[in-house]
Amino acid sequence: MAAFLGAVRPVQCSLTNFANQRLKLSPSIFPVSVPRNGLSFHHLLKRTFQSSLHSAPVESTSSNLVTPSGEQSEIIFVGTGTSEGIPRVSCLTDPVKNCPVCKKAADPNSKNRRLNTSILIRYNGSSGLRNVLIDAGKFFYHSALRWFPTYGIRTLDAVIITHSHADAIGGLDDLRDWTNNVQPSIPIYVANRDFEVMKKTHYYLVDTSVIIPGAAVSELQFHIIDEEPFTLHDLKITPLPVWHGQGYRSLGFRFGNICYISDVSDIPDETYPLLKDCDLLIMDALKPERSTPTHFGLPRALDEVRKIKPKRTLFTGMMHLMDHEEINAYLLKLKDTEGLDVQLSYDGLRVPVNL
Ligand SMILES: [Zn+2]
Ligand SMILES: [Zn+2]
Repeated sequence: MAAFLGAVRPVQCSLTNFANQRLKLSPSIFPVSVPRNGLSFHHLLKRTFQSSLHSAPVESTSSNLVTPSGEQSEIIFVGTGTSEGIPRVSCLTDPVKNCPVCKKAADPNSKNRRLNTSILIRYNGSSGLRNVLIDAGKFFYHSALRWFPTYGIRTLDAVIITHSHADAIGGLDDLRDWTNNVQPSIPIYVANRDFEVMKKTHYYLVDTSVIIPGAAVSELQFHIIDEEPFTLHDLKITPLPVWHGQGYRSLGFRFGNICYISDVSDIPDETYPLLKDCDLLIMDALKPERSTPTHFGLPRALDEVRKIKPKRTLFTGMMHLMDHEEINAYLLKLKDTEGLDVQLSYDGLRVPVNL
């Protein structure tokens, strides 16, 4: 393995320098004017979403092209499925067993069609609209291909990493399209333990001196985070340490009153205070029945919702045993019986939020 020579920067190094660097780009290098976040593209598209933090009215699919408001911050669910993706190829080729969810998910417009778990925070702060991605997994290219043009997402202002499994970092190589063609580089915010993994899995992105001259790989700036809050532009991000299997740490993240925990098998006592007064909880729920050693099943996830008491919950990271319509119909009943506002998310869902 190549020795690390790479571009680690302390987390307090804000993105301001990066933004300035981008703004100073010579037109001769980037002959096409690149408006921040591709806003000019939006004029071609039709705005159709409502501002609300409640379940029903915000649903959007690929069939209705929508634009960012230019004012309203929002979350876009880039992917909501487990590592293998839904549908499973093995289910579609099984000569004996019929998998109803994968069969439905073969339709590109099905809400059961899910790629690796990831969200994009579109944050409208004092420095303008920023795109912050949480995780770029092995299906990132396919998710971005589907949703970024649809939603007019052009630049990536930062990528935050929850942990170093392939469904969270497998797409780092695909970021080359952005750093070759859209912007000079992308800051990656990652815990040191996961950066150590990246030195092996993506050694050529950490130590670019090993690259053959002329090869164009992703240009990434690595910022090491610990379990303390940090700031991206003026958005405060608070890591939410959780267990993702015995002895294996993953990070959720809180921004504003939104808590995102995508890969979790247990929540340590010290993390619960960070989840107080949560308006929107986005949380792991792998399968309908029991939990696995590395992920919450639905019953455990619901128990955590009852404990954390968010105003609204959207589950993510579902495998092929979770039928979107059936599970959501069950969850809807919990609103009447327990007052729980809980639903499954789906790829492409966008939710306006206050940050
Ligand atoms: Zn299946
Ligand atoms: Zn994982």
